[in-house]
Amino acid sequence: MEHVKKPDWLKIKLGGSDHFSETLNIVESHGLHTICTSGRCPNMGECWGRGTATFMIGGDICTRSCKFCNTKTGRPLALNPFEPANVAKSIQLMGLKHAVITSVDRDDLPDQGAQHWVDTINKVRQVNPSTTIEVLIPDFQGKFELVDMVCKAAPNVISHNMETVRSLTPKVRSAAKYDVSLSVLKRIADNGLKAKSGMMVGLGETTEEIFQLMDDLRASNCSVLTIGQYLQPSRKHLPVVSYIHPDEFKRFKEVALSKGFDYVESGPLVRSSYHAENCL
Ligand code: SF4
Ligand code: SF4
Repeated sequence: MEHVKKPDWLKIKLGGSDHFSETLNIVESHGLHTICTSGRCPNMGECWGRGTATFMIGGDICTRSCKFCNTKTGRPLALNPFEPANVAKSIQLMGLKHAVITSVDRDDLPDQGAQHWVDTINKVRQVNPSTTIEVLIPDFQGKFELVDMVCKAAPNVISHNMETVRSLTPKVRSAAKYDVSLSVLKRIADNGLKAKSGMMVGLGETTEEIFQLMDDLRASNCSVLTIGQYLQPSRKHLPVVSYIHPDEFKRFKEVALSKGFDYVESGPLVRSSYHAENCL
């Protein structure tokens, strides 16, 4: 496929408030692991300046291999029993107001890592009682008893990303199914928790398909949505089909709000955890 040139609006400015430099210092000197740094996220200056960061649990090797994702794939190591305490301590050291936690998919484990999620949420809350917690969970293969375990640990927000429209799901995501992901979101909402999802655009989807995904999410009682531009992490990943103009992202936001979402972030550099604290 012909290479699509990156437009000017994706040229990134790295902000640097005092709080940002302080946080960077803590992260570097303690060898802490955040998605913000490992994913070289363009929003680091802004998010850290506002007291938000994202951590990955369950190790750094995923049992799946989605075609947009830069995480290593393979046979994961055993879970680190100290990880919940390490994440809790990191959040304390960074002085975070809102912590986002995500994980690799652990299809190799009998409970797919659900108990590790529960332990992490509990430990983070115990050490940081005033920090709000958002978890971005895997689909747990659609097993509601595992989704319910995480719901019972009562984080402030539970997110599960659809990533893309129905027609592109088999090509973009590995093992995940569109309807299973919708059912996970509905289960989260049925548990009385705020359900959030995220999607990427620029993978070749049509506008109608994007609006259909919004409708499907609303039908599953998902109330928070993020929409961002897909960027190709390396040549081995899916190519970018189109760069969506910022005005189009604004239109997506207006349409999503009109469909009944409570909170929407939509823009070229929006990531699932961008401005995450605002949806509370
Ligand atoms: Fe970190 Fe998410 Fe913000 Fe990026 S958008 S800096 S990953 S919290
Ligand atoms: Fe990446 Fe998540 Fe897919 Fe694993 S399941 S490859 S971490 S997007």
